[in-house]
Amino acid sequence: MELTRRSFLKLAGVTAAAASLTSVGYGKAQAASGERLRIRYTQEFHTICTFCGVGCGIICNVRDGVIVNAEGDPDHPINEGTLCSKGSSISNVSYVFDDKGKPVPNPKRLTNVLYRAPGSGRYEIKDWDWALETIAKRIKDTRDRTLEETAVVDGREVTVNRTNAMGWLGSAFCTGEENYLFHKMARAMGIINIDHCARL
Ligand code: SF4
Repeated sequence: MELTRRSFLKLAGVTAAAASLTSVGYGKAQAASGERLRIRYTQEFHTICTFCGVGCGIICNVRDGVIVNAEGDPDHPINEGTLCSKGSSISNVSYVFDDKGKPVPNPKRLTNVLYRAPGSGRYEIKDWDWALETIAKRIKDTRDRTLEETAVVDGREVTVNRTNAMGWLGSAFCTGEENYLFHKMARAMGIINIDHCARL
């Protein structure tokens, strides 16, 4: 069949009308079934997947403190909108669904600081202020006690300002910029044993 300009416009008009009728029909069916857009009335948060070193970007939609939808961030340069099965299930880190389909906090999620003292066989629950203060104090004590200011290299004494008594492990949950700052901080403290699960 020869497609003239007139017949093309007619065809386009019929197609548009059919699409619009279909969409009206779909809208009615959706309204009749009570189906609502899952991300309606939600707040949008951008985050990084916690599971592996790839560091995919995720958009989480939160309603009343519960993640109701999580999907790949199309603007993120690493995953460009895609997620693997682990990333797609990220909301289950904080919420799972009960047998009535209602979201409830995941009972397996750790929400407290657990501390096991040297030589002890049990964990104690501590608060965050205690944990941060204790970590900071122990880092400072260890650094002050073990910092080497100079070392002999190739028969020559050189300034090294380093400690071999501590190590620093980065996190795939942090962005490249955050890990850059952590790296600077570790170097400033004289830590030379630095690694990261994704070798960033
Ligand atoms: S979505 Fe999958 S590939 Fe991406 S960071 Fe998470 S676990 Fe890794």
